[in-house]
Formats: sequence, structure tokens, C-alpha cells
Amino acid sequence: MVLSELELRHFRNLGIQELRFPPEGVAVIGENAQGKTNLLEAIYYLESFRSFRGAGDGELTEFAKDVFHLRGSVQGDRPATVAAGFDRKRKRKRVSVDGNDSVRISEALGHLGAVVFSPADVDLVNGGPRLRRRFLDILLSLNVGGYVGALSGYRKALAQRNAALKADAGAMAVRAWDGLLVESGARVTRARAEWVAERAGTFTRYCSAISGRDPVTMSYRPDLPLRGSGGANDEGTGAEDASVPGEDTIRERFHARLEESWGTDLRRGVTTCGPHRDDLVFAIASKQRALPVRTFGSGGQRRTAALALRLTEAATIRSQRGVDPILLLDDAFAELDERRSERVMALLQDECTGQVILTAPKESDVRLRGPSLARWSIREGTIEA
Ligand code: ATP
Ligand code: MG
Repeated sequence: MVLSELELRHFRNLGIQELRFPPEGVAVIGENAQGKTNLLEAIYYLESFRSFRGAGDGELTEFAKDVFHLRGSVQGDRPATVAAGFDRKRKRKRVSVDGNDSVRISEALGHLGAVVFSPADVDLVNGGPRLRRRFLDILLSLNVGGYVGALSGYRKALAQRNAALKADAGAMAVRAWDGLLVESGARVTRARAEWVAERAGTFTRYCSAISGRDPVTMSYRPDLPLRGSGGANDEGTGAEDASVPGEDTIRERFHARLEESWGTDLRRGVTTCGPHRDDLVFAIASKQRALPVRTFGSGGQRRTAALALRLTEAATIRSQRGVDPILLLDDAFAELDERRSERVMALLQDECTGQVILTAPKESDVRLRGPSLARWSIREGTIEA
């Protein structure tokens, strides 16, 4: 896909601007705090309708303004004009696709086919499980039909069930939500399990290609037992059991877990089992045992795993949506050693042939695509071609 035009209005410090992007992309160069990440955040907002930095819509609105608007034109197999706006006072978000503003956000997702690489991605490896669940949720919402619906059903059921538990509202009021919780939770669990089963090999190949050694595995650590007995929290070797049980089986197991945890749920006033407690585990495979990268990995190994995860995301977009993703690279390779960053560049050159929009503090940091990539500069939010 190619982002050909972007209209910005009061998004962060970017003011009012209209940009035309070359089909091969551009390198945006500017000092710290000029708005480089803001620009990529604006672009990715049109893909996912939220900030990739996890900022709220209010924070994205220019200080002292109440409303921001974005509009982007995408060319490629499925051309589209995607627009979004947010009104801070009314707390209202509007989206439109090709001028149709009656589309729901869930229907407007994923028109760009973009992937962001950012130095903050290392938090996906270092940080808590919530960040990894968020990664899975965004990825699957954008690439797997029906996931958004299942996820919002699950969130609703979980919030209502927890509210009833907390309020001591009685078994009837709590268990009224079990049907939706199990139904939607099983769909969420199955989609996550399937993605990991399908992509774990790709992830490991990317890690090895970047590091030149250390096979690193990615495995799904579901809260619900998927492997028949036990399952939850068992220390896997990282070798994924390729067979993902069907939704019926997951539903049965979820029901059984809810029965088992009923006493604990009542005592603690919160639902203690389900996919809101899932995790993804990255581990350095060794003969003796698998060492979690999160606790045993070096800085370079963690950054490598994070990059491999984003490359795996790009591969998912290619195969699920059949498009070459737009790469948004936010000064992403700054901290890798020379050999690793060369290997990443080589992988990106080979595998990601689509548009690249990258940011860098200095000209000499632009190492992808060489001089053929157009150079723009950014200063205090103003971009100059
Ligand atoms: P670095 O190289 O350090 O990563 P950057 O160029 O990526 O810098 P950004 O994070 O894109 O910088 O932009 C930071 C600037 O944006 C800061 O000056 C900040 O004050 C400004 N900014 C952030 N949010 C808003 C907002 N809502 N309204 C106006 N300005 C904002
Ligand atoms: Mg930045």
C-alpha cells in the first residue's frame, strides 16, 4: 500500500499541513522534540484509530485546541480515503472511509496496512504482560475478521461481571455474564493461539537472521488450558503445540475454570481466569531449558526480539491482507550494534519492498534505501519537502 496524501489539522504539534508522499517513501529528519514521532503517530492513527504510543485522544489534540482531524489517501490494490477526527470537549471520535461517515471504527480499521517500528518496542519484551496482550489485540483486530467484536464482547462481559462481584450483587447477577464471557473469551483465546501457532516459526527465523545465532522462540501462555491437562502457566520449552483446540473445547474448559475459581472470584471480588490474564513468552532456547528473554536476555537480544516481532507483524499483514505493508520506522535501529542493524536493513530491503516513511535525528542515521529515498526536514512540527 502507499500513503499518497495526508492532511493534518491540530494533531499534536503538527498544525495545519497537507503532505504528498512519494510512492517509495521519505526520510523525515529533525532534531529531538520536533514532531517526528507525532507524524508517524498521525499516520498510524488512520490505520488503528488510536495512538501507537498508548496516548489518549485528548493528548493527541493540539494544546489549546479542542478538535483534531486527519485525512489520508491510500493507493494500491484497495485505494481508500480514510479520515478521523476527535472532539476533546464532547469526547467524540468520528471516522470515515471514502466520505462515508456512518462506518463504525471496527469497519474502518486496517486500510493502510502499516507497521510501526519504534525504540519503545523493546517494552514489548521488557514490560508487563498487558503490553503484549495489547500488541496481540491490535494485531489481531487489524488482521483477523471478527476479532474486534469478540474482544469488545469479552471486555464488556468482564467489566460487568467484575462490577457485580465487587458490589456483592449475588451469584445470579455475576453469572448472568458467564455466557458472553465464555463465548467471546473462547474466540479471543483461539485467535491468539492460532496466530502464535502459525507465526512462531517466522518469529524465530527473524530473530536468528538478525542476531546470527541464539534461536529465540515465541510461545503463547494462555490462562485457559489449551493442552488438555494443566496448560496454564506451565513452563513450555517454546515448542508450540501446533494443534489449537476448537472453540467448543475452549468454551468447555473456560466453563470448567469458572466453576473452579468461583470461590476465589467471590473472595477477591474479581474474575480470576480468562484471556485477560494471557501472556506471550519469548525465550532463548538452550539444551537445558528455555530462558525467558525478558529476564535473561541482553539489551541487544531484547531489541532483536522486539524487531523480529514487528517483522512478524509485517509478514502477517502480507499474508492476511495480501498487501505490502507501509513501514513506519521511528529512529528504530539507533541502539542496535553494527552487525545486527546491518542484518535488519538487509531483511527490510529484501522483504519489505513497499513504501517506507522513516524518521531520524541526523542524515547519517538514514541507512535504508540509500539516497534514493526523498529527504524532508521537520522543525517545530513544520515539515519541509
Ligand atoms: P525525538 O527525536 O526526541 O523522539 P520527536 O521529533 O519524535 O523527538 P515528538 O515526540 O514527535 O518529537 O514531538 C514532541 C513535541 O511535540 C514536543 O515538543 C511536545 O511538546 C509536542 N507535543 C506533544 N503533544 C502535543 C500536543 N497535544 N499539542 C502540541 N504539541 C504537542
Ligand atoms: Mg520521537
